[in-house]
Amino acid sequence: MKVTLMKRIHNFNAGPAAFPLSVLARAKEEFIDYQGEGLSVLEMSHREATFESILARAKSAITKLYQIPDTHEVLFLQGGASLQFAMIPMNLGEGGAYLNTGVWATNALSEAKILGQAHELWSSQNEGFNAVPQTPIHIDQNLQNLQYLHYTSNNTIYGTQYHHIPSLIKDQTKYQPMLVCDMSSDFLSRPVDISAYDLIYAGAQKNAGPAGVTVVIIKKTISRQSAKMPHIPKILQYKTHADKDSMFNTPNTYGIYLLMLMCEWMIEQGGVEHLAQINAQKSKCLYDLIDLYPNAFEGHALKHSRSMMNVTFRLKDESRLEALMQACEAREIIGIKGHRSVGGMRVSLYNAVTLSSVYLLVDVLETFAKSHVSKS
Ligand code: PMP
Repeated sequence: MKVTLMKRIHNFNAGPAAFPLSVLARAKEEFIDYQGEGLSVLEMSHREATFESILARAKSAITKLYQIPDTHEVLFLQGGASLQFAMIPMNLGEGGAYLNTGVWATNALSEAKILGQAHELWSSQNEGFNAVPQTPIHIDQNLQNLQYLHYTSNNTIYGTQYHHIPSLIKDQTKYQPMLVCDMSSDFLSRPVDISAYDLIYAGAQKNAGPAGVTVVIIKKTISRQSAKMPHIPKILQYKTHADKDSMFNTPNTYGIYLLMLMCEWMIEQGGVEHLAQINAQKSKCLYDLIDLYPNAFEGHALKHSRSMMNVTFRLKDESRLEALMQACEAREIIGIKGHRSVGGMRVSLYNAVTLSSVYLLVDVLETFAKSHVSKS
């Protein structure tokens, strides 16, 4: 697709985040007249065949990218990942077990606690959420009827990520309640064995599209059942959305269209295996730099828990932060200020962030490190 030259900055935002230029150009080209239909996707009825085919294409692209088996289905919902914090206990029942690895996991747990019993099985809060559990978690023999295990595969604020599926041990044996994962910030960034999960959810606004679309990948045995908790409004039941093919009410039509373009772009790139390689390469550039200049930088996450999506670090001399931010601004680099609860810097490296943007940032950081401090 022909793209006329225009200003594009180096966008490391944590979400909403960068889109591939070719996806934006395609959306622009189709914006007023979608494929010769004489109207914009924005103006289409969600009940028209054209939008139905967009929804079907979005679903089939995700299914292809993750090789989703027939046992599972894809739903497009609204309300962000935050609404899932509540829908999960409503539909799966109380008695969820949570691994608390950051703000979002804490929020998921506290929503579940509003609705009934929920358990925190593990937490890295006392260590500033600098890690995710590395070994199976032994649970108390007295803990009965755990409905599901909930974890956050990538902790956007702290820059930690699981590189395995967490597991539980009870009475010396593997204990396997339903497995639920908040994949908001590493969705479609690497291969995932979907068959291992009962429910995966993700806000699209980091790797997979715009804000306002939440993707749920759910086992059909769950989505075709009524909610476990009684008196749940229809709109909060997975079954309602599954029965109506994500069209119980008006979906975020334009958001789903952009998500479709983004997922088809990912397929063109070579799928999640290829994206994972690039994402690993991007994050390695930054972690190598942090490790090379320990007098200048200090990573937040422990090495085994480092995220490929959000690289978090502080300056050894925090008084230099403003100067570094200005150096970045001068090179049109944005979105690298750390979350207020961690401080320092956070560099988000979602699928659409290019290696060349990362090289530029590394160059600025290295120049800064060399000019202000010596190597270890
Ligand atoms: N989970 C994770 C891991 C997140 O990063 C976020 C948002 N940044 C949320 C949940 C909340 O998502 P939303 O704003 O879509 O509700």
